[in-house]
Amino acid sequence: MSGHSILVVNAGSSSLKFSLFRLDAADTLHLAVHGQVDGIGTRPQFKVKDDAGRRLVERELDVAEVREVKDAIALARAWLRGHFAGETLLAVGHRVVHGGAGYTRPVLVDDAVFADLEKLTPFAPLHHPHNLAAIRAIRETQPQLPQVACFDTAFHRSHPQLADVYALPWEYYAAGVRRYGFHGLSYEYIAGVLPQVAPEIANGRVIVAHLGNGASLCALHAGKSVDSTMGFSPLDGIPMGTRPGELDPGVLLYLVGQRGMTPATLENLLYKESGLLGLSGVSNDMRLLLESAEPHAQFAIDYFVHYIAKAIGALAAVLGGLDGLVFTAGIGENAPEIRARVVKACAWLGIALDGEANQRGNACISAAGSAVSAWVVPTNEELMIARHAHALVKAEP
Ligand code: AMP
Repeated sequence: MSGHSILVVNAGSSSLKFSLFRLDAADTLHLAVHGQVDGIGTRPQFKVKDDAGRRLVERELDVAEVREVKDAIALARAWLRGHFAGETLLAVGHRVVHGGAGYTRPVLVDDAVFADLEKLTPFAPLHHPHNLAAIRAIRETQPQLPQVACFDTAFHRSHPQLADVYALPWEYYAAGVRRYGFHGLSYEYIAGVLPQVAPEIANGRVIVAHLGNGASLCALHAGKSVDSTMGFSPLDGIPMGTRPGELDPGVLLYLVGQRGMTPATLENLLYKESGLLGLSGVSNDMRLLLESAEPHAQFAIDYFVHYIAKAIGALAAVLGGLDGLVFTAGIGENAPEIRARVVKACAWLGIALDGEANQRGNACISAAGSAVSAWVVPTNEELMIARHAHALVKAEP
């Protein structure tokens, strides 16, 4: 079968996710397959599913075959070539976590852009090197194939300066110490579908709660991001699977100055050992916490809900009121109990839940007559990236 497609790549430290989208005659993108290489450099596994979630491949690999990101790219591309022979790959779209202050939209990666992106690595040392390794691997083997970098920070560049600055001397702002915000591709996707899914709020004041393993909230005004809970790094804001969310910087000074913690151990504590996992001692997985009888697991859920509600109050103040609340990502889309508890904690804002609609996971989950409406809108960061990559190659002369 011949046709045109866009490959989407999300490369992390130990895993590489990829999705192939095909274009139909009307130039609309459709997911064809989604795959994943896990355990890069340790116990590699290769999995591919079709658009309906049916398993096409699931196999373990020898570590010698997949030592680094470029091996995972080669593996995925060889499989795709075998299964989509005759298909023309128009572009590869990459999720790139950090676009600094300068990248306000996705960009075609040429030599100058690549060199510029390398300079941003100190701002996202855990993610950026892997994102760039994937771009580099494809540049080396197929330099003529257009590659598009799509940034998690770009959507938030519409923040007013008040939401972009820390109260530090200005020299730090100039050096890049800013509130960047993340999950931008998810928020951009949600803002893009709201006019169809929830037209009555799309032009108003909306808070989107992206509740996944990483979690944040974004205040949208007429579809533009005006504030968000994440800042300089994806550590800030509400508690997450393994990250604590907002933390008094005095705690960090104490841990480093008085407890002798090194940057590496601190990084591990903040990115991998805290949040729901650290509080519960059970798991970072919300499904397991909801099932657990451990008091600390229940406390972790109480804590998660409390700080989400607190952040919603703060963002509603920024927006000067609220028209709609949208839940998305793994927990937001699939955990009615968490949604119900968050909405209950926000009842003072004028949100009333329709319990049955919430259990069913309807798009609209607020009761008729609720002053503020509540919604469940599945996010699709991969499709957002594919659309950006397609739009940029189409715009090329
Ligand atoms: P994400 O990072 O968006 O993939 O979301 C991952 C989070 O979603 C994990 O904490 C999962 O436990 C959670 N999650 C996924 N499905 C469910 C579900 N049915 N009920 C509760 N939490 C879920």
